Amino acid sequence: MPLRIVRNDITKMKVDAIVNAANKTLLGGGGVDGAIHKAAGMRLLAECMTLGGCDTGKAKITKGYKLPCRYVIHTVGPVYVDGTHGEKELLESCYRESLMLAKENACESVAFPLISSGVYGYPKDQALKVAIDVISDFLLKNDMTVYLVVFDRAAFNIGEKLFSDIAEYIDDKYVSDHIDSRVERMRRAEGNRTFARPLAAKCEECCAAPFGDDLDAILSEIDESFSQMLLRKIDEKGMTDAECYKKANIDRKLFSKIRSDVNYKPSKPTAIAFAISLELTLSETAELLKKAGFALSHSNKFDIIIEYFISRGNYNVFEINEALFAFDQCLLGA
Ligand code: ADP
Repeated sequence: MPLRIVRNDITKMKVDAIVNAANKTLLGGGGVDGAIHKAAGMRLLAECMTLGGCDTGKAKITKGYKLPCRYVIHTVGPVYVDGTHGEKELLESCYRESLMLAKENACESVAFPLISSGVYGYPKDQALKVAIDVISDFLLKNDMTVYLVVFDRAAFNIGEKLFSDIAEYIDDKYVSDHIDSRVERMRRAEGNRTFARPLAAKCEECCAAPFGDDLDAILSEIDESFSQMLLRKIDEKGMTDAECYKKANIDRKLFSKIRSDVNYKPSKPTAIAFAISLELTLSETAELLKKAGFALSHSNKFDIIIEYFISRGNYNVFEINEALFAFDQCLLGA
């Protein structure tokens, strides 16, 4: 089940539970805590007063009152000192404990803020990574839709090594693309100055080859739809359907739709999410995408980022989404 990174005010999220980055007293505070208490009303504070506080890394649950969610899960993130005071383990524990509480209370959807990344000073890029790691691990074993609500994306520091590598990769591809198109323009201009080539000659070069002996192969390729190829690949990889759609960050219902409709036409991010889940090579990815009428190109960042990850054999859809998010691209799966 999917992890979705969204920009929103968490108090507006229509989910079963939202998570509050609370302090140990659970009696309200600033930041997201203040916003949640304000939107939920005084009865939330009254219930919180009965809970006897909460330790760092732990979580407690209350009703949502005036909020559009059923529950509020209050967790206490660590105050960031310098990274050597168990901050990471405590922050991981916040996400794990909150997810367990959500599961125990039969929540199908939960929204998290970036715990500890405000007043508590946890560096936002690292806080995001911890959140994604713990949530994605949980989602591989559990059915839930989890939203990570990022309030102020502009404040993100994407200077980490991964992102600078990707930025460099994008630059490289853009540069080569740019050069290619310049060469192409010159070539065309040159062609226009000479004379048009006879149609017959063109046909021999361009048309005859692809539609010659390979015609049967091409027609038989058309026979297999996206859905059929996907199901075949799942079998070939020895995966179960659930393993595949979870690893693709795809919703079970969407997968069922694709499974039952032989002519289903997925969106490009959905098709790519399956290629990632199946750990296809770049050429296999191209083959699968072609079934849905898509291709990877160097003319947009989204495609280049996907190519970057596949060419490095990194098939972690959550890490890919983290990078896509940082570069303001639409995400895979969900
Ligand atoms: P902490 O004390 O755990 O650092 P904060 O409330 O100060 O908690 O900040 C946690 C994160 O929540 C910050 O990234 C902040 O930008 C974000 N935030 C603040 N208000 C909201 C809101 N209404 N919805 C979602 N996120 C919010």
